[in-house]
Amino acid sequence: MVIDRTGWEKTFGGYYKGEVEFNAPMSAHTSLAIGGPADVLVSPEDPVSVKNIVMLLRRQGTPFLPLGGGTNILVRDAGIEGVVIKCRAFNRAEVIRDSGDMVELFAEAGVPLQKLVNLCREKGFAGMEGLTGIPGTLGGAICGNAGSYGCEIRDVLISVVILRSDGALERYDADDLGFGYRTSGVLPDDIVLSANLKLKKDDAAAVAARTDDFFTRKKSAQPIRERSAGCVFRNPEGMSAGRMIDEAGCKGMHIGGIEVSGLHANFFVNRGEGTAADYLALMEAVSKKVRERFGVTLDPEIRVAGRG
Ligand SMILES: Cc1cc2nc3c(=O)[nH]c(=O)nc-3n(C[C@H](O)[C@H](O)[C@H](O)COP(=O)(O)OP(=O)(O)OC[C@H]3O[C@@H](n4cnc5c(N)ncnc54)[C@H](O)[C@@H]3O)c2cc1C
Repeated sequence: MVIDRTGWEKTFGGYYKGEVEFNAPMSAHTSLAIGGPADVLVSPEDPVSVKNIVMLLRRQGTPFLPLGGGTNILVRDAGIEGVVIKCRAFNRAEVIRDSGDMVELFAEAGVPLQKLVNLCREKGFAGMEGLTGIPGTLGGAICGNAGSYGCEIRDVLISVVILRSDGALERYDADDLGFGYRTSGVLPDDIVLSANLKLKKDDAAAVAARTDDFFTRKKSAQPIRERSAGCVFRNPEGMSAGRMIDEAGCKGMHIGGIEVSGLHANFFVNRGEGTAADYLALMEAVSKKVRERFGVTLDPEIRVAGRG
């Protein structure tokens, strides 16, 4: 069922506060700048509005997709059926405990991950240095257990508050969230609302130096200024997908407007006019070459969403 403005007002009007956009081009909400329209895109102002619409959508059988910064997702050209829920209005982050050599931070899911990294850099809180330069939100980082340079978001998490699709609000200890390599136990219909993080007090100059060192390395190894969704494929056990793609001769390969980055072969960049169809076709072509060369099938790391 496609929801229009009248239908939205009738069903959700009294239960929801925040922006609503109909037929919203997802190219404006993803780092790849690709994706057809979502039927509806909402940016709720408060957790109560999120809870209300999730429960109403579930009752109606209308699908919904939580979205953070859109930096790890490929939205298909035919767009997204149902409602995309952006949690960008939830962006509070503050120190809630300061004891001994540790601090505890509370942060909402829509906080940009780099806002947290910068806060830690400024205050001398150690633990997140390796996450420098990873775009997107805390919520997205928790869903995919974002990480680099031997550091993962799970390393600094104490607990996570999740809104279940039946409207239940649950707090999970980080150890119970099933984190693995770029995965978590967060379900597709779960909405991460907030998290508590633990960091170690350190000398601010030392934290800044480590953060800056990682950022310099990241800048020289990844096309961070181009339109991409980060790593396309997961690293197979003990191997580097980027190196395998490179050695299979795929650097510079392109289909339509999507190209295998010359800087890091596991990044596909949109040269401006790329489509999701181009991206998926390039994934298939690269996968085939890697399979022929190494006998290994690569698994996608990016999330693919939208009408198939
Ligand atoms: C230049 C570049 C460099 C990158 N480098 C790295 C890197 O070094 N390491 C790394 O791990 N990743 C990297 N990435 C990928 C990406 O930035 C991370 O995976 C990031 O954590 C995704 O966060 P996001 O908010 O953009 O998530 P989105 O792309 O918006 O969403 C990703 C998934 O999480 C779900 N989701 C998002 N927010 C919520 C929420 N609040 N509740 C429930 N589900 C939610 C979405 O439904 C989707 O399935 C890079 C990306 C780019 C473009």
